[in-house]
Amino acid sequence: MVARVIVDISNSEVDRIFDYQIPVNFDVECGDRVLVPFGNRTIEGYCISKSEYSEYGTDLKCVVRKLDENPLILPEMIKLMSFMKEKFFIRYVDSLRLFIPSKLRGNKVKAKIKEYCSLSESMTYDQMLSLVPKRAKSQIAVLERLKEGGEFFTILATEFSNSAINALVKIGVIDRYGIEVKRTPFKGLSATDITVKLTDMQNNAVDKVFKSEKDVILLHGVTGSGKTEVYLSCIEKVLAEGKTAIMLVPEISLTPQILRIFRGRFGDMVAMLHSGLSDGERYDEWRRIYDGDARIVVGARSAIFAPIRDVGVIIIDEEHDSSYISESNPRYNTIDIATYRAVYNKCHIVIGSATPSVDSYQKANKGEYEIAVMDKRISKNGMPEVEIIDMAGELRRGNFGLFSSELKESIIDTVEAGNQAMIFLNRRGFASYMQCKSCGYIAKCTDCDVSLTYHHQDNLLKCHYCGKKFKPLTQCPDCGSESIKQGKIGTERVVRELRDLLGNEVGILRMDNDTTSTKTAYLDILGAFKEGEAKVLVGTQMIAKGHDFPDVTLVGVLDADMSLYFSDYRSSERTFQLITQVAGRCGRSIKKGRVLIQTYSPKHYLFNFIKSYDYKGFFEKEVNNRKVTSFPPYTTIIRVLVTSESEDKCVDTAKSIFGNLKLIKATCPEEFIYLQAMKSPVTRIQSKFRYQIVMRINRNNEQKLISDIHNILDDKKSRGVSSFVEINPQSMS
Ligand code: ADP
Ligand code: ZN
Ligand code: ZN
Repeated sequence: MVARVIVDISNSEVDRIFDYQIPVNFDVECGDRVLVPFGNRTIEGYCISKSEYSEYGTDLKCVVRKLDENPLILPEMIKLMSFMKEKFFIRYVDSLRLFIPSKLRGNKVKAKIKEYCSLSESMTYDQMLSLVPKRAKSQIAVLERLKEGGEFFTILATEFSNSAINALVKIGVIDRYGIEVKRTPFKGLSATDITVKLTDMQNNAVDKVFKSEKDVILLHGVTGSGKTEVYLSCIEKVLAEGKTAIMLVPEISLTPQILRIFRGRFGDMVAMLHSGLSDGERYDEWRRIYDGDARIVVGARSAIFAPIRDVGVIIIDEEHDSSYISESNPRYNTIDIATYRAVYNKCHIVIGSATPSVDSYQKANKGEYEIAVMDKRISKNGMPEVEIIDMAGELRRGNFGLFSSELKESIIDTVEAGNQAMIFLNRRGFASYMQCKSCGYIAKCTDCDVSLTYHHQDNLLKCHYCGKKFKPLTQCPDCGSESIKQGKIGTERVVRELRDLLGNEVGILRMDNDTTSTKTAYLDILGAFKEGEAKVLVGTQMIAKGHDFPDVTLVGVLDADMSLYFSDYRSSERTFQLITQVAGRCGRSIKKGRVLIQTYSPKHYLFNFIKSYDYKGFFEKEVNNRKVTSFPPYTTIIRVLVTSESEDKCVDTAKSIFGNLKLIKATCPEEFIYLQAMKSPVTRIQSKFRYQIVMRINRNNEQKLISDIHNILDDKKSRGVSSFVEINPQSMS
């Protein structure tokens, strides 16, 4: 028999399958990790299929060895690999990276084995005593200790002498052996489970999920309508049938909270998978899932690749979130992977949101998805009242500060009443740029074509694209002027202004990319806020999602126009989602909530929809705009991004690809609404120049066209130039 093997060389440009002879003395199964000769060395590979004969003849090298007892890649996942290759043009080796923890590959991390001691099972306690010399007091003490149960050697050795323990091992009275200890992320994190009786609305939603003939059920539930309980209930149901579940949340920051709730309800059966785990934790959690010890996987996007069998339901919370689309290699869309797995496992996918993506809602409208609606909050108070504040008016009244007088008063009142406030600004740092007042010079990153953000705490200018740090501007390098102006305010600055407003006594926390770099930072910040140690939480979009704090009665949104005028067809959708989500953080329990939104364009139609929680109204208008202007979901946007450290090479490749695309267009002009080549909006990132070809095409033949484009890119491959295809990219920078 011949094993068809993908070799695990991640930097390889070839994505080929190699044939190896399976020797007579052992068998190889599909999915097995094997050692194979490759060039003049042996490397790891995975058998993805078997056949009687090889098209390369009979003179094949042999598989050296099988590395594990059982196949590491499940049959389902082998099929998924082919699907991903077909649909997203993902190379097999790149799929491997998604499927199997990097440190398991190449045996870089192993199971953690600790020495364990326990009384021998081959004799009675009295027999043991008779073997131990009477005056060996400490040996007898060890025996007494172990009578209550086994113990790890390291712990035992802190209580008793090594010699006493070893003497007992030597005479066979106690056994010493290695056992595997699992590294568990957020050990001890669990909530006491509160069993609630589902409301009628929740029950209806659960019913709909299981009765539906469609694969995907969109749970459209307003913020605070109790979507989590619906998810839990769906999972309970499938577990009872002996099946398993996958639960995805959009951000790593949200995984601890959901993990806490899930552990409370389901205990050790829950495993967590995401890119923020340590290598050891990922290895162990992955094994727990693979071995069937964990039957629920909670995680961010990549958890959709968990090695879990018999999936009974896949849940994607906050489905509108852009993080479900991977925009760096390997590029894929989580919902498509989920759909593949759901079809394979004959189960449902529940996608939930208070603000579904236009795309998903359109699918529900067309009957492709089932829809379940929960339009009321659990709390009797209903939705918090939203007020729009005209900041231009504030300026006219002489208020040049960050906060409108209304918001200022509201913050003070909230804190005085013992309640909590959340202040949202989607910009981190202290000031968005530093600029010379005399000549207009702006401090920019040396490697990227972007202005640098000033961070006050570190007193540094930082590049938000590549992370590079620079000294702050004190004198203009161009004209020598010392008069420096600071750009738009960020979250750091908000905290300082709040400090001035509230004094030093009131706890203020900030949650953004800068404050959450350590692993427990999210939990620490959110925990402190939940405990009431701080009265105000300032943050970026991180604070917008999922959180459930009963004492929050005020939400302030600063600079709500920020994302409104981006030259991105999704900017209205994004703004609507983001603001509705933040607004949804308050008044979730018995206390009534209030939302104040500061903007310079109070008359923008979007605010009316936000104010009246009118998702449908927003959707109708948005979808109509998209139709008239031929934007997704009516068309598909494809961007080919070409990057290189050499601008000439970048231009050459882009031109050449563009040439071919124009030829394709000539054969089917009706498919193209738009086709242009240009510099990318950010012309350089990490020292690489960026050129792009943007097209908008009709959806009829898109898969064929996308495949043609990939072929062109393969054809035009050249050293030192990378090119990618992006479908409806989330960011066009
Ligand atoms: P969503 O995810 O829809 O924004 P959550 O799932 O966070 O809402 O639920 C909001 C609050 O309502 C939570 O505090 C939750 O514990 C509570 N809750 C949910 N369902 C019920 C129920 N059936 N009875 C009582 N409280 C509930
Ligand atoms: Zn200057
Ligand atoms: Zn940079």
